[in-house]
Amino acid sequence: MLRKLIDMGILAFRQTNSRGGFKPHLSLRFMSDEGKPVTFSIDTTRSPNKCLQPDVYLITHAHSDHNGKSAMLSEHSLCSDKTAKALEIRYGKAYKGITMGVSDSIEVAGVTVQTFPTGHTPGSTAFYWENEVGTRILVTGDVKDYSMLPKCDVLITEANYGDPGDTTCYFEDDIEGLEQLLRDNSCVALGAYAFGKAQRVVELVRSLGYGDVIEMEAQSLELTRCMLENAGNVVGLGEAGGNTLCVVPPWDLDRLSWHTSKYVMSGRSDFRYPSIQISDHLDVRGLTDMVRWINPEFTVVYHPGGHRPGKFAAHLNCLGLDAISIDKITNVLSNDFI
Ligand SMILES: [Zn+2]
Repeated sequence: MLRKLIDMGILAFRQTNSRGGFKPHLSLRFMSDEGKPVTFSIDTTRSPNKCLQPDVYLITHAHSDHNGKSAMLSEHSLCSDKTAKALEIRYGKAYKGITMGVSDSIEVAGVTVQTFPTGHTPGSTAFYWENEVGTRILVTGDVKDYSMLPKCDVLITEANYGDPGDTTCYFEDDIEGLEQLLRDNSCVALGAYAFGKAQRVVELVRSLGYGDVIEMEAQSLELTRCMLENAGNVVGLGEAGGNTLCVVPPWDLDRLSWHTSKYVMSGRSDFRYPSIQISDHLDVRGLTDMVRWINPEFTVVYHPGGHRPGKFAAHLNCLGLDAISIDKITNVLSNDFI
């Protein structure tokens, strides 16, 4: 199957780490329009400085499993300005690479790279470019909304909820449940991860007409103020005197007063508190619809770790869509070649 990629002018490979295992995620090598070999590494950790570097580290968004914490320290990294800001807030370090908008175009390493929003987190972007022979390549990162993504020939995408045999990979956001708990409770705490989910929750409650002040845990608050244009009145914990809606990471719910109604914004059922299904992701039906919509000749499922990329690639193959998962890619390019 990788032969097909090579015919389209792309060599997909993985790098090894110092322990001899594979680094996370994927690298692509191709020729630019100027006929120069170029390597883009996707959501990978940074190679040590003594090693030769890829031309670009693409960082799709600032969730930790996409390794921006490491790649942000390279001058070769590329991400949206919002992702760079989120990385700086989350990790307390300066982003050293290149930034662009969420729907933008830039030339790096002789390649014109375009970005498209994926609706997964504030600042999350898909990257799109063409190689020398005109193959259109799209790297999505994690996706919530695929409606703004372009068609392509080679799709590099995720399968966080891509196992069609797993019931937890089928879900819908419970907006009505969220609306009802806002209606029924004056003092309610919502457990949401500080980056991504917390901003989604604030956006949702504002879209449901909730106009009062929202108290937030410190890092959630800083990220929300930086990332959301229409967050409304958001303040730190206790600054509104309690007795209002508050948003904190799930593990902070225990610290709040006993008379606060507590919920977790998650599809998971292993928290101590009742959950409302609000997800940053597409479920397996959404992921399948996305691949059909983008209509690639070939799909590489590169994320997350574990068995789900393999399950989703097999599912696509059953539907007659050519796909391969990252665990089947065992090409290693030694440093001499990069
Ligand atoms: Zn993510």
